[in-house]
Amino acid sequence: MHSVNDYLNSPITDSTPLLALVLKKNHAWLITNKDYTLTTEEKNTLKPLIEQREQGVPFAYLSGVKGFYHLDFTVTPDTLIPRPETELLIDIALDLFKGKACKLLDLGTGSGIIAITLADKNPHWQVVATDFSKQALKVARQNTTINIDFQQGSWFDAVQDKQFNLIISNPPYIEQDDPCLKDLIHEPQTALVSGKDGLDAIRIIIKQAPKHLTNNGFLLLEHGYNQQIKIVELLKENFTHIQTFNDYNSNNRAVLAQLKS
Ligand code: GLN
Repeated sequence: MHSVNDYLNSPITDSTPLLALVLKKNHAWLITNKDYTLTTEEKNTLKPLIEQREQGVPFAYLSGVKGFYHLDFTVTPDTLIPRPETELLIDIALDLFKGKACKLLDLGTGSGIIAITLADKNPHWQVVATDFSKQALKVARQNTTINIDFQQGSWFDAVQDKQFNLIISNPPYIEQDDPCLKDLIHEPQTALVSGKDGLDAIRIIIKQAPKHLTNNGFLLLEHGYNQQIKIVELLKENFTHIQTFNDYNSNNRAVLAQLKS
């Protein structure tokens, strides 16, 4: 294979974005320069990327970048690849604290998408983000556009007795035997899987959140499509005004609850 056309007409998965990545050109350029012959160096760069993509490595890990909301984020195999569903949490939080000050905690921040997107939209908010993974925090710090207090530790361990107006988390929530995991082997399993019913992390967060919320503070969680009823039950003990949300595919995807006063 020599020309752009050869690659575009081949059965290679994601040949267009891979070519765009290696040639540092956009899709429009590729379409209008189909006769361009790749240099040996370009072909040598492309070959291992094609091989990895054929073996199922997600494109985002090859490009090292994934767009989320209005920003581009560096991602590595130490962090989950941002999902469009998670943008729902951003919309809910922006709506809830529109024009207001907010002390925000993002638990299990990964590449930092939730904390950074919200802080970037609200530079006056005080934002703390935690993760137990040092490697993930390194990526999150690299992605930061604004001042965020990153702390290492599991769930609330990193914030001791601090209190927040809003706690948000997209925790691991997939069941340990879920067959979908075979398609997610390249991503960090600790960011995906949470015990038998997928609710281990969510149970910890719901139990410990009251201690870390100010009066009438809010907890906002992303969860699996079949977990909403159970999560609402767990929340009822200490929370009120429980609201449920669907994602843009109409799957149950998030809950928002306010601490009982
Ligand atoms: N939404 C992701 C998926 O189903 C899972 C993310 C998570 O566990 N927080 O692939």
